[in-house]
Amino acid sequence: MEQTIKELLRARGITAVAPIALSHCTLTRPYLLERAGIADGTAFMLAVPYYTTECDDPARNISAYAVSRDYHLFFRTLFDELLPVLHARFPAQRFAGFADHSPIAEAEAAVKAGLGSFGCNHLFLTEEHSSFVFLGEIVTDAVLDAPPREVRTCEDCGACLRACPVGLAVHSCLSALTQKKGELSEDEAATVLKNGSAWGCDRCQEACPVTKRARARGTLYSEIPFFRESAIPHLTAARVREMNDAEFAMRAYSWRGREVILRNLEYFEQGGKA
Ligand code: SF4
Ligand code: SF4
Repeated sequence: MEQTIKELLRARGITAVAPIALSHCTLTRPYLLERAGIADGTAFMLAVPYYTTECDDPARNISAYAVSRDYHLFFRTLFDELLPVLHARFPAQRFAGFADHSPIAEAEAAVKAGLGSFGCNHLFLTEEHSSFVFLGEIVTDAVLDAPPREVRTCEDCGACLRACPVGLAVHSCLSALTQKKGELSEDEAATVLKNGSAWGCDRCQEACPVTKRARARGTLYSEIPFFRESAIPHLTAARVREMNDAEFAMRAYSWRGREVILRNLEYFEQGGKA
């Protein structure tokens, strides 16, 4: 089963895949497993690379994860394709797919599965794609030999801390600030403007030596078409206004409503005088 799952995923550009016994995972939403009829078994953790050459656009003004359409759509399509194939190949087993809204603590499970380590920037890091990955999992009731690996942490070089415009250790993340509803204070708005990103912030990820190594090797880049199609690295207020509701709903920045992303973009476009 492990080989089949890995081959199916590799054919779709996902190479960072590893199993972990559910008994070694922290259950965060056990009702999701109950609904899937799975009491015990194995989670195949997937780290899906999303960074594309479109993200290298020097005019990019939003976080790399928001350049493509929302990754939840990617996982939905992936699971819709793969789960029937797995059910057909292994009719005695149950399978379910999750991403983000998951029955287990995903980053911890991915580290225990041996896919990567915990970074000091609070992100999950893979050597292959650095932290530019989305986590998801295929869960099955097949009980496989998948013991936990040694939990690793990053090399603790401090580059993320030094790169953080707001002081990663003491202040709330700028990423949260760009997503805040309502008015920003003058100081908050000036911080967003200075950082140059209208949605999210990637500075700690970009400064990380793991990212630099992955970029030099070329493994940073995703080969998955979904993350290149409909990419918008440079967003404008006009572009956001042009989107119909269905198009806007497919973007990662839609969950806070149009007014938040528009506020940030207009602030940039008016030179910080909005
Ligand atoms: S995302 Fe930006 S603001 Fe947040 S911790 Fe990283 S560098 Fe700091
Ligand atoms: S920059 Fe250094 S300390 Fe920060 S996550 Fe990367 S390896 Fe760890």
